[in-house]
Amino acid sequence: MSRPLVTENIETLKPYKAGKPIEELERELGISGSIKLASNENPLGPSPAAVEAIVSAASGVNFYPDAGTFRLRHAIADHVSIDPDEIIVGNGSNEVLTIAVRTFCEPGSNAVVSDYGFIAYRLILQAAGIETRSIPTDDRFAQDLDAMVAACDDATSMLFLANPNNPTGTHVGAEELRAFLTAVPEHVVVVLDEAYVEYARDTDYASALAMRDARENLLVCRTFSKIYGLAGLRVGFGVAPQELIDFMNRVREPFNSSLVAQAAAIAALGDREHVRRSVEQNEAGREVLEAGLRALGWDFVPSQTNFLLVRTPRPGGQIYDALLREGVIVRPVAGYGLPDWIRVSIGTTEQTERFIAAANRIA
Ligand SMILES: *Cc1c(COP(=O)(O)O)cnc(C)c1O
Repeated sequence: MSRPLVTENIETLKPYKAGKPIEELERELGISGSIKLASNENPLGPSPAAVEAIVSAASGVNFYPDAGTFRLRHAIADHVSIDPDEIIVGNGSNEVLTIAVRTFCEPGSNAVVSDYGFIAYRLILQAAGIETRSIPTDDRFAQDLDAMVAACDDATSMLFLANPNNPTGTHVGAEELRAFLTAVPEHVVVVLDEAYVEYARDTDYASALAMRDARENLLVCRTFSKIYGLAGLRVGFGVAPQELIDFMNRVREPFNSSLVAQAAAIAALGDREHVRRSVEQNEAGREVLEAGLRALGWDFVPSQTNFLLVRTPRPGGQIYDALLREGVIVRPVAGYGLPDWIRVSIGTTEQTERFIAAANRIA
């Protein structure tokens, strides 16, 4: 018998299903003027300051980027009041997750995630051949932190939690989070994914960056893909004690974030007004979306993010197809084990109104 080309974990891996590009969908359906509410992107676009930085960086791309991301790490450090040596930059926060798994998950170890947690965790773990323990939520998708702690054993290398979570939009309260970070066994590297931190407005919400005293082995991940509107450039970062960052830097490829991405991220961080406007527009958009859904009689999960998980009257895949024909692209979430739901990003008020009108036509 010859050696198999790939291991079983690769053979059975179902790749991440990204939304199709708008142009391709329009060509397939013969429509135009569609709106995309599928990937939780900032509907206001990037900060004008970031666009300016991108343009001016463009003429320097014959040079390799700064492999140590010195200026960007210092800008992030100022922003979150952390030492620059406790920061690692990635080609999107997805890459930070991948580097972490390659660094901390040894063969034979296991990792703990939650049902309906961000799907990237289990894909990265499966690709690495790491056993994944997925813990059920309650019927309103609250992650069961006690059960996640109980699932850890001596062989557990990592645990992943998104707060707020995608695709549910749910969050863990500050007190509960602190108790959890304290309770997870010391040897486990906990990843706290805060991709939507800027949108979280509940008084009960707190970033894990304020709880770094609760445990050593903590990696907090953030991204420039969401509120900063730089998803297309791929840049995110992780915050962890210097020892963890040093290990991750051994695994990281030297030029993993591009020169243009670094320049744009620095400029985006500096434009607090754009962030403020984006939050404001998200709050207004969420109200319009929630009111429209209530009028339709479609259930949704209260959200601390820029999207809503919406229960559909017919299978989510059918609603997705019908909305597509109306020129509104949302995200089906059957791949998350949620066949009766869709995820709808909060667009501009005008886009949200278009979604509601289309949903009324197809309901
Ligand atoms: C969008 C998202 C990210 C961001 O990924 P990038 O690679 O930085 O674009 C990370 N985690 C969650 C939960 C997300 O929804």
